[in-house]
Amino acid sequence: MAKPLALFGGDRAVTVPTAELWQRPVQKEKEVVCRVIDEGFLSGTGHSVAKEFEDRFRDFIGCRYVLTTSHGHTALASAFFAAGLGAGDEFITPAVGYLGSYAGALHMGARPMFCEIDPQTLLMDPDDVERRITPRTRVLNPIHFWGHPCHMDRLLAIAQKHRIIVVEDAAHAHGSEWNGVKIGNLGHIACFSLQGITPGGKPIAAGEGGIVATNDRELYERALIYCHLHRAGALEELTNPVYRQLDGELLGWKWRAHPLALAIGLVSLETLPYRLERFEENRERLFGKIEGLPGIRPVRNYPQARGVELYGGLRFIYDPDALSGLPPARFAEALRAEGVPIRWHALGHLEHLRALYTRDLPGLWGPGHPGPANQPLPRYKQGDFPISEGMRERVFGLSGWIQPAEGLIDQIAEAFHKVVERHRELL
Ligand SMILES: *Cc1c(COP(=O)(O)O)cnc(C)c1O
Repeated sequence: MAKPLALFGGDRAVTVPTAELWQRPVQKEKEVVCRVIDEGFLSGTGHSVAKEFEDRFRDFIGCRYVLTTSHGHTALASAFFAAGLGAGDEFITPAVGYLGSYAGALHMGARPMFCEIDPQTLLMDPDDVERRITPRTRVLNPIHFWGHPCHMDRLLAIAQKHRIIVVEDAAHAHGSEWNGVKIGNLGHIACFSLQGITPGGKPIAAGEGGIVATNDRELYERALIYCHLHRAGALEELTNPVYRQLDGELLGWKWRAHPLALAIGLVSLETLPYRLERFEENRERLFGKIEGLPGIRPVRNYPQARGVELYGGLRFIYDPDALSGLPPARFAEALRAEGVPIRWHALGHLEHLRALYTRDLPGLWGPGHPGPANQPLPRYKQGDFPISEGMRERVFGLSGWIQPAEGLIDQIAEAFHKVVERHRELL
């Protein structure tokens, strides 16, 4: 029998520090930032550090075209425009999703049609996507949550069958792979975020920033004209005879990234392969020690996928029925008493239950707005997505580690074993 539970006065299973010990190369960041300041390049894209970042990221992903933007959500908005989305069109995005993922589509007047998640992977469920396609569906918007790739074979096949475009939210998925191909080099168009600071921020972090990646020349040119007012060399670069007639302001948005942010992003990109490998090693060590325990199951990638869980960390699905009905809050309390920094309610946001779709909000959208003015947003209610809603109480999160303290992973695994073995005492 495992030792007594810390919750009842036993010794804590975790005695070493639980903080991430890997530190980002701050000195290197300062050097690159200072170089950019010395050059005086503080605004612009298409040359200098901005071009260097795009070139390096393109090499890393292996795709043909890369465009940096101010944020991940502006990258996504540009991709929705590139896909030809407009007022009254429908797009499918997961009910466990993120407003920032599809805000660009919403503001164009397109209608979010939510779909269920797969309760094993917590990602957009391709079977449910298929059921929700209508003649007005124009875009699929899968989110590779916590770096776990969605089922791209299924989604791309559905898209091909219905002649629709897949705009991937790869905000968490820099370096994630499907069938050995990096996300960003496989579908139609994928968008990354550079939000936060390494480690803990998006897998490549630059404070704020975003990236559009595609292999499709037309999608690239459309994203470019949408949001890159006065990009160096843009007009010479455009090949579409219609777009070439625009002037340097293109379509007027200026959603370029800040060069100082990209300087920091360059250093983050450099350390990504190292961080990824160490993180995976530690993840496998932990999962290997707790796999098969009743009641708590690590969320795995699809067998075709390599996940990059550097943002948001590891996920676990809890099954109270396997532990005599022990409520998840009590399970989490016992683990935290052992010193495990576990988070409950670690599932993403239930998008369909936002005020936007559940309440009357008179006057919110102007009377001439191309979407809501002519066609109100779809209305949703509790119970519309039973599978996604049913997961709300059942997902735990743990940050995962690039460099854990010596012995930490073993101690965390021991804590899980202890709480599971002695769960009846918690009832
Ligand atoms: C961070 C994030 C975005 C957008 O990124 P920003 O750079 O913050 O605009 C989009 N989707 C998801 C799931 C995210 O976590």
